[in-house]
Amino acid sequence: MNSYYITGIILSRENIGEKDRLIVFLTRERGKLRAVARSSRRISSKMAGSLEPFNLVRCWIHIGKTFDIIKGVELIKTFPNLVRDIKKYLLVSRIIEFIQYIVQENEESPEIFKLLFGTMSAMNDYENINSVYIFFWINALALAGYKMRLDRCICGRREITSFSSSMGGVLCNDCIEKADDVITVSNSVLTLLKEYAIIKLSEAVKREIPQYLMEEIENIIANFRIYHTNIRLKSEEVNV
Ligand SMILES: [Zn+2]
Repeated sequence: MNSYYITGIILSRENIGEKDRLIVFLTRERGKLRAVARSSRRISSKMAGSLEPFNLVRCWIHIGKTFDIIKGVELIKTFPNLVRDIKKYLLVSRIIEFIQYIVQENEESPEIFKLLFGTMSAMNDYENINSVYIFFWINALALAGYKMRLDRCICGRREITSFSSSMGGVLCNDCIEKADDVITVSNSVLTLLKEYAIIKLSEAVKREIPQYLMEEIENIIANFRIYHTNIRLKSEEVNV
């Protein structure tokens, strides 16, 4: 077999040489995948219009010596609001950057594909993007192997007061001393995190998180992510 099909979301693209582009996909079938679009920078190239970041495409790909070569593209879905709305664009850029780090090449990852596709669709179609954004992070970290404990303390108590990345999640007042990286968390945020530990995306799109709570929640998530994965995002340096 010297060719194959993939269904994938375009994560990024970069120019190589005079005319070609290297496209990075998150595919349903093969995890992260790099392939070259030959001559895609020519104005007449039919392929170029479909091979834009964030698009969902189906591609026919030939196996090449250095890189595999994209031979055909079918555009399945675009997410126009993610490009048009600057806040949506910045939040999705962070998500995409994280996905590039955590998904390996040629490793089937249907769950993370489903999460990314669901998140992008929801952020494109709905205005309550804070809720969808937080839903993504809690679930993406869990899929990457770092599930936050959000419903109860390590001792089992449900009366939680704080958060510690090194202890894996929320803590009660009696257990605070066991960690040296305790973050004090407001009651509103603790309640919210408990809920997000169990809700589905279809529920997250119906909710919204007020902007004044976002800084606190994002700080917890970034702290947890960096502690466990050591991934720092360039796109996070741009404030939303
Ligand atoms: Zn405890």
